Amino acid sequence: MRGNSVTGGDRSPSGWKLWSLPGRVLVLVLGVDLLAVGVTALAARAAPTSTQWVTAAWLAAAALPHLHASHLIERRRRDRSGTPYVDLCSVWIFAGVLALPLVLELALVAVIYAHRWLLVNRYDPVRPPHRTVFTAATLALAAAAASAVLQLTGVHEHLAGGARPGWAELAAVVAAAAVQWGINTALVGTVIAWTVTVEHPRRLLGSASDNLLELSQLALGVFVAAALLWWPPAALLMIIPTFALHQCVQLDQLKLAARTDQRTGLLNAIAWHEQAELALGRTRGRTGVLMIDLDWFKRINDTHGHPVGDDVLAEVATVLTRTVRRGDTVGRYGGEEFAVLLPDVDEAEIRAIAERIRVRIRGLRITTPAGEPVTLSATIGAALHPVVPEAGLDEVIRAADDALYAGKKAGRDRVAVAGF
Ligand code: GH3
Ligand code: MG
Ligand code: MG
Repeated sequence: MRGNSVTGGDRSPSGWKLWSLPGRVLVLVLGVDLLAVGVTALAARAAPTSTQWVTAAWLAAAALPHLHASHLIERRRRDRSGTPYVDLCSVWIFAGVLALPLVLELALVAVIYAHRWLLVNRYDPVRPPHRTVFTAATLALAAAAASAVLQLTGVHEHLAGGARPGWAELAAVVAAAAVQWGINTALVGTVIAWTVTVEHPRRLLGSASDNLLELSQLALGVFVAAALLWWPPAALLMIIPTFALHQCVQLDQLKLAARTDQRTGLLNAIAWHEQAELALGRTRGRTGVLMIDLDWFKRINDTHGHPVGDDVLAEVATVLTRTVRRGDTVGRYGGEEFAVLLPDVDEAEIRAIAERIRVRIRGLRITTPAGEPVTLSATIGAALHPVVPEAGLDEVIRAADDALYAGKKAGRDRVAVAGF
């Protein structure tokens, strides 16, 4: 299931107090919470049978040890910028959608998120209680809608009757999973879109690997449900693959973190170098490298303070990613130095791209929290590969660096191209 995580800029806890949310977000959050309460009240009118209580107990017996064992991983899995955040509750929740009456399913959601709050979220300053409540409420609504699909298609009745399900039932289960995914994604995506500036709207849907994770969970949920209905103790075995899945997710995140510069979200120097080597090997035309160094950056720190310097670096990173072409590789090479690899360019193009970057950095209008304007410029050294026959990436970087140095000496705020 997905919740929302926020960018560094929105991390101040005060920014996430319920009453300080923008008006339409507040209305959405409270509306979803209230709707979830309403749905729960309606669902509670039908009392579960004793068999259903036993099924729910088996499901809780499988879910809670997994959720408990994985809470330390969850604590470490915070802090991803402006993207939906996928956790590993869906496997149990979708199993509940299939195997439980709605009221018990909603109780399961409440138990899972109460547990999550007690063990993880209450220690996280960017996750005030209303966010856990909202996450649980979106999931309750998504689960209720998925459950309604199964009700309408007669699958619930079919499964409860003990008959062997076939293709039609599978299609209905897939539709229910799609509804659960769709509602959850839409609600969480809307809140993110309304509270965080997102670079690409596609990010609101989450990464491909997050969605694959979510799909795997829904698929595993079907097997948990099958076990609950026909062989309940076997559901306990599912703790093992879900835990393994969790470990894989963590590994994925560590890999990503190891390649990313935390301040700017760009590739770090090592990852940029690796990526640039790969891109260089793939291109047949000439490849350009830009080394971009901000001018007099130390003065910005000295005049306005280090945090303003940090904000400037993030702004420059945004300018770079917006200005380069698709397929170019941007990285943070050092403190206030950035590198860009441009496959398939000629001299005129590399000059034009570098100039465009220079002008946009110069045109950045940044004001400090105290309201003072920050003036900024950059010197850009450019070089084209191969600098000399048989030269590799390091040679072209060195040539771009030399050009950068020459540009600094010539007065800064300019583009200097090596060898021309
Ligand atoms: P030049 O035009 O010659 O490049 O001058 P400069 O001041 O930009 O260059 P210098 O190398 O003297 O200073 C770079 C400064 O960048 C020093 C360092 O404190 C600052 N810096 C490096 N990394 C960071 C960072 O992550 N955040 C902030 N705020 N400052 C940083
Ligand atoms: Mg420098
Ligand atoms: Mg500098």
